[in-house]
Amino acid sequence: MKIGIFANETKKSMRIKNELITKFKERHFILDDTHPDIVITIGGDGTLLSAFHSYEDQLENIRFVGVHTGHLGFYTDWRLDELDDLIISLQSDNGQAIAYPLLDVSVHYRNQSKPDKFLALNEATLKRIGMTMAADVYIGGDFFERFRGDGLCVSTPTGSTAYNKSLGGAVIHPSLAALQLTEIGSLNNLVYRTISSPLIIAPNDWITIRPNQTSDYFMTLDQKTVYGKEIEEIMFKISKRKIRFAKYRHTAFWRRVQTAFIGDSYEN
Ligand code: NAP
Repeated sequence: MKIGIFANETKKSMRIKNELITKFKERHFILDDTHPDIVITIGGDGTLLSAFHSYEDQLENIRFVGVHTGHLGFYTDWRLDELDDLIISLQSDNGQAIAYPLLDVSVHYRNQSKPDKFLALNEATLKRIGMTMAADVYIGGDFFERFRGDGLCVSTPTGSTAYNKSLGGAVIHPSLAALQLTEIGSLNNLVYRTISSPLIIAPNDWITIRPNQTSDYFMTLDQKTVYGKEIEEIMFKISKRKIRFAKYRHTAFWRRVQTAFIGDSYEN
């Protein structure tokens, strides 16, 4: 088994990375950051997002394992005091995996014949700088509404606890391959009207956003920002590709949500 290690740049993560490298060498694992079978991330959910995009073209061959250096994350569930247990799990690995849905984003530009294609693990957003964004929203190819406001966000189930949640979106269990569309600062008055609530879209449907103006937009894909091109249309759908995690043990999704957002302050 070939192991890649992807750490953020904090001193703590670097120290853990070196510690892990020593342990792996002692146990004769092959360390290979270029074509790994398992990628171990050290840091937080943000670090896992970066690792995901670094290995985006190899997702079918890779499983991820997240070690967190701070709090329990949504993609990172191994604690620093469990490194030896993690190594034992890797030694008895039999390919066990859990897969989560991803978001396919196709962006059609005004002066470009072919769309640009992106993949997101958490979400993609479209926003307009300075002025109100006006955009037509289609679901499954049918016109749904004309949106006016700051922007729109389309998230995956595992991304539902990230930006989507701050926008009032629902937390979705990752076994449901659904997309979620949330509004960012929509205008609602006697002239303009939007649905004003998050929409959860079935796995086979797709969302299309056609901005009424073509310039001044910026699009985000997880941590990445795309700016400066004249966007004609963006299409969002659940991808055929998935991210896979090595499933050596099970942390129930709702337990993670409870730990991350509620804590034990009301426990008797
Ligand atoms: P960041 O701005 O440094 O941190 C964003 C925070 O979101 C971090 O605390 C990160 O956790 C957490 N996070 C990332 N993915 C998550 C998930 N799936 N569920 C719950 N929390 C999650 O940015 P970053 O670390 O590079 O992450 C980029 C993400 O930030 C974007 O994908 C977007 O979801 C989120 N974001 C949120 C807002 C908002 O809530 N208003 C605005 C912009 C972007 P860790 O501390 O464990 O890394």
